[in-house]
Amino acid sequence: MTLHCRVRLLGSSGGLYSVRAEEDDPSGAVRRGDRFALSARGAFRHQGTSPLVGDLAILRLETDENGNPDRERGILMESLLPRKNELIRPPMANLDYLLITAAAASPAPSTLALDKLTAACEAQKVTPMIIINKCDLSPETAELLYAVYAGVGYPVFLVSAKEGVGEDALRDALSSLLPGKTAAFAGASGVGKSSCLNMLFPQLRLQTNTVSVRTGRGRHTTRAVSLLPLELENGAECFLADTPGFGLLDFENYDFLGEDELIWAFPEFEPYLTRCRYTKCTHTKEEGCAILAAVKEGKIAPSRHGSYVLLRDELRRNRWK
Ligand code: GDP
Ligand code: ZN
Repeated sequence: MTLHCRVRLLGSSGGLYSVRAEEDDPSGAVRRGDRFALSARGAFRHQGTSPLVGDLAILRLETDENGNPDRERGILMESLLPRKNELIRPPMANLDYLLITAAAASPAPSTLALDKLTAACEAQKVTPMIIINKCDLSPETAELLYAVYAGVGYPVFLVSAKEGVGEDALRDALSSLLPGKTAAFAGASGVGKSSCLNMLFPQLRLQTNTVSVRTGRGRHTTRAVSLLPLELENGAECFLADTPGFGLLDFENYDFLGEDELIWAFPEFEPYLTRCRYTKCTHTKEEGCAILAAVKEGKIAPSRHGSYVLLRDELRRNRWK
């Protein structure tokens, strides 16, 4: 018998795709959570698109005389379901949330680095969540960052993974937002991403030994992405993208944002956009710019506008490269 079932691509390495069934098959031959490995070559016969980690796909498989999936005969990825987004580095599809992590101190936070990540999220329809860790070291800086990013409208969490502060609020938010979704951590090395992960998902401490959430992080190790199914506190499941690449998100190599689109990556600018004196306003120095006025009136954070100007310069420079 030939079966079709919806699967999620959790990983790819060594010429094999690892996929996991998303639902029970009515015949009972496949259960939600069953895993299949299939050879990347020949597993997917469509031109143009190649499967990415995070893809949802329709798997076709044959059952043997006992009604069990026949793993010897061809298992095929028959079609890919439409993607919500597609990231280049790391290569993956369907990322829902980026948990952008910064430290209140040590290392000192960079609003530019944070704003590059939020801009990349906006461009890719990924929802950013901001985690300010190490609040024990500088509660004042943490509060300043909170004001900036809560002011944009992003969910912001002040935590200290070291002292367990803010853990419950973050856990509750993840339990309500993440069921069925895929999330990844991003942020500079040393801000406490692994510490936050271990705080939130104590079971990871175990898994880190085998599944290597940690070992993937080194600068010289592989860039391969994989999705790790994780149980949330309410019993629901989410997928954590183990992505060394995110910490190194390199804006200059991204061409998904055009100079004209950059403005949309700053959602708090939007209410002012139609109020500038000049329709071609670049919002950098013009007379009668409503965004500059909003910065002056304290309605837009100066650091956010500063990042906009710097990113705009960066995108303009790259255009001529
Ligand atoms: P990652 O590189 O982002 O994964 O960062 P780690 O989780 O490895 O943490 C880097 C260092 O910061 C480690 O020495 C941690 O013990 C320390 N650290 C993590 N969270 C906190 C915190 O909330 N407060 C303080 N003071 N130190 C922390
Ligand atoms: Zn303007």
